[in-house]
Amino acid sequence: MLNNGIRTGKQYLEGLQDDREIWTKGERVKDVTKDLGIKRGAETLAGFLDRQHDLKFQETVTYLDDDGIRCATSNLIPKSKDDILKRGKSFYEWAKWSNGMFGRTPDYKNASLMAFASSSNFLTQGTNSQTAFSQNMVNYYNEMRLNDKVLTHTLLNPVVSHQQASEGKFSEDVALHVVKETDAGIFVTGARLLATLGPSSDEIEVFPSTVLKGHKDNTPYAFAFAIPIATPGLKMICRDTYDNEKSHFDAPLSSRYEEMDAVVVFNNVFVPWERIFIYADPELCNKAMNSTNAVVHMAHQVACGKLAKAEFMVGLLCSIAKATGRDKDPNTKGMIAEVMMMAETIRALLFSAEQNSHEDQWGNFMPLRSPLDTSRNLFPKMYPRMVEILQLMGSSSLMATPSEADFSNAISGDVEKYFQLINLGARDRVALYRLAHDVAVSGFGSRQNLYERFFFGAPHIMNAAYYDIYDKDEKIGRIEELLNSA
Ligand SMILES: Cc1cc2nc3c(=O)[nH]c(=O)nc-3n(C[C@H](O)[C@H](O)[C@H](O)COP(=O)(O)OP(=O)(O)OC[C@H]3O[C@@H](n4cnc5c(N)ncnc54)[C@H](O)[C@@H]3O)c2cc1C
Repeated sequence: MLNNGIRTGKQYLEGLQDDREIWTKGERVKDVTKDLGIKRGAETLAGFLDRQHDLKFQETVTYLDDDGIRCATSNLIPKSKDDILKRGKSFYEWAKWSNGMFGRTPDYKNASLMAFASSSNFLTQGTNSQTAFSQNMVNYYNEMRLNDKVLTHTLLNPVVSHQQASEGKFSEDVALHVVKETDAGIFVTGARLLATLGPSSDEIEVFPSTVLKGHKDNTPYAFAFAIPIATPGLKMICRDTYDNEKSHFDAPLSSRYEEMDAVVVFNNVFVPWERIFIYADPELCNKAMNSTNAVVHMAHQVACGKLAKAEFMVGLLCSIAKATGRDKDPNTKGMIAEVMMMAETIRALLFSAEQNSHEDQWGNFMPLRSPLDTSRNLFPKMYPRMVEILQLMGSSSLMATPSEADFSNAISGDVEKYFQLINLGARDRVALYRLAHDVAVSGFGSRQNLYERFFFGAPHIMNAAYYDIYDKDEKIGRIEELLNSA
């Protein structure tokens, strides 16, 4: 059996050891696989890639492509409802491995790339399109699929003046733009944000955001391309790490799932034509995510991940209720039931989207969009509420969290005695609340909250887009019918 469409974790980590320019803690990183703030997150992802070779998971998270090569399921071009269900099962499996806490597993970007490649005729439809762009996309998808590459993406230009931005203009000094065009490709300068998993990815997609105004002033900013992270002139400027080198006991999530976010700076970066998919075409950029259905396939991956995360939050809250003996208290039950209902809402939306999957305009299958749009607009509100409930239930126990070392030092007797709970010994209680702390209080947990609020887009834009595409006419008609009835 050919296995070359799925990499091992070792192959992935070796691939990160290149000339990439990553900055963190005031210094340039020599090797991201050795940097203490980044490496454990990359090792976690390496472990996940290894699971593609584990027969327990392989059936779900991989498939045999038409070329006979075993690839990650997120690359499967869906031609039936069964394919949609297979993709969904794979997304959910990947998400369960981190309980949704490693948000940016490679299946997210694979979903988008698959959608672009399987609708690549779209790329021939612009005023400035070349047939080559469509072929470039198919070639790129196949290169990423067959080499099991890990991608990040950056959609937004940094904003200097929000007034200027609201008029649809970019700051020439900072927004990523084309500075030169040659027979071989283009040169770009400027910055983009934000690249989650950027330092530990193989490649970066620099795709359009959906807010370009159609006038020619925006032409230098209107493109879609993808290049390796280690391209000369490209640098990533990271936030502080949340992996503070603690043990898995002391920091169960941040010691494992630090996926790092970075602002990306391009200094006269060369992009060859074969890696360009849209060029100098604001209108095509604006249509790209919707017309290719990339947004729907990404939202499918996201909904599966959010289900795994919501289930995890239910499990955590129930574990705390059980440990404290408050699982008989109606108020506690009511708070947890609220989170259970959120999880079941996401499950129902996902079920509805998958069961009502249908053929799209490109001859592929896609999940029904509206339940996934509903899910991606609801979860940014749900997750902060889940965290709030955890804080309300946890209270000072979230602070009563001695470290692992305190179980084997001079104060271990005190810790064993004073940290026990009715249904849990001290060590297990501290472990449980340290997990809750990492979700609800730690820097890692706060970033998770921010991620859920924003990673798919600004709430005011996402909500307004939901309003725009919602089928309103029939409902308005009913009001008019009532008002006009005799
Ligand atoms: C943890 C994290 C990870 C991310 N990862 C990625 C990634 O991998 N790739 C990527 O491309 N992007 C990523 N993003 C960026 C994300 O796409 C943006 O945060 C999101 O689109 C919002 O844009 P912004 O941050 O510029 O906020 P802004 O546009 O500055 O908005 C800030 C707030 O103001 C509100 N607001 C702004 N303008 C208006 C207005 N006119 N009227 C009313 N309200 C308004 C917004 O709704 C929001 O609440 C990530 C973000 C976070 C927080």
